[in-house]
Amino acid sequence: MALKKDYYEILEVNPNASDTEIKKAYRRLALKYHPDRNPDDREAEGRFKEISEAYEVLSDPQKKATYDQFGHTVGAEGFGGFHSEGFGGFGDIFGDLFSDFFGGTAQPRARRAQRGADLRYTLEIEFEQAATGLETQVEIPRMETCGDCRGRRTEGGRSPETCETCGGSGQVRYQQGFFSISRPCGQCKGEGVVITHPCKRCRGTGQTKVSRMISVKIPAGVETGTRLRLSGEGEAGRNQGPRGDLYVVIRVRDHEFFTREGSNILCQVPVSITQAALGAKVEVPTLTGKETVDIKPGTQSGSVQIMRGRGIPHLQGSGSGDQILIVQVETPTRLNARQKELLEEFARISGEDVHPLSKSFFEKVKGLFE
Ligand SMILES: [Zn+2]
Ligand SMILES: [Zn+2]
Repeated sequence: MALKKDYYEILEVNPNASDTEIKKAYRRLALKYHPDRNPDDREAEGRFKEISEAYEVLSDPQKKATYDQFGHTVGAEGFGGFHSEGFGGFGDIFGDLFSDFFGGTAQPRARRAQRGADLRYTLEIEFEQAATGLETQVEIPRMETCGDCRGRRTEGGRSPETCETCGGSGQVRYQQGFFSISRPCGQCKGEGVVITHPCKRCRGTGQTKVSRMISVKIPAGVETGTRLRLSGEGEAGRNQGPRGDLYVVIRVRDHEFFTREGSNILCQVPVSITQAALGAKVEVPTLTGKETVDIKPGTQSGSVQIMRGRGIPHLQGSGSGDQILIVQVETPTRLNARQKELLEEFARISGEDVHPLSKSFFEKVKGLFE
């Protein structure tokens, strides 16, 4: 055990101080170092603990006499005072200490209104549904106030019995020197009531799990990660506390042809080398069905064609993004003899002049190593 400071020293009085002087000193110091006035101050906490312990002893004539005669060596532990396990939460120990002073009352937990928990539900929708919006129903299992006991937790919904140990306050008080200290009642765990006949349906919890079908209206333009809040559709609260909220988080499935970039839709359009060279009309998918677009003669692979306003509606504000077509020229891979013959003839009669880009590229490469 560490060497303890002298109790008179702690209270900053001399060993001959009168009871009144000790009391005055204690009062001054206790108020100065009280945890409520020094939140998160470990040093003040330690001082307050010391001061309380010192006063506990010096305010009691019998303990004081023992202390004066033997000092800390005898029965110091027996003097009571604070114990470390009580020091985790000042909220519990000191919660209503000052409210006692100022005439306030702490509400026992059992009667305190508590908001229900929020729930989260991930909803998978199709690409098109994200673009058009939809109304759907989702099945949500959630805690609801028990219908049998109406949340009172007792058989037949009677009022729970008041805890005899704490008289219903949920707190037990004891004198700590000058202060009256409260801590949660062990009998009722701070609830102020005991349930001798718990409701059978909810087993005394006051809530039951129920699956509900809940309508969800999804606006056009949502994307993966969009969170919709359905106010009051979460778990039930306790003691008339409000319900929590339900958050529906959207996940949009991948599309066979489309990828999304903000409110724009990207769509790869494969065309053959002849379509790209000669021009063609090709059918492309859009959100509203197939549509024919013109591929101009001489279209390069990777070139882009924009269909204005054919993308996804803006979630906020008006209008829509675009559909962006990205042309991909497909090089034929399995040529039969006739096709090969024609392409070779094509190459022969066109020479290199039809490929100005590749011609200059290879000429430059050739020049590089000469
Ligand atoms: Zn019940
Ligand atoms: Zn109690």
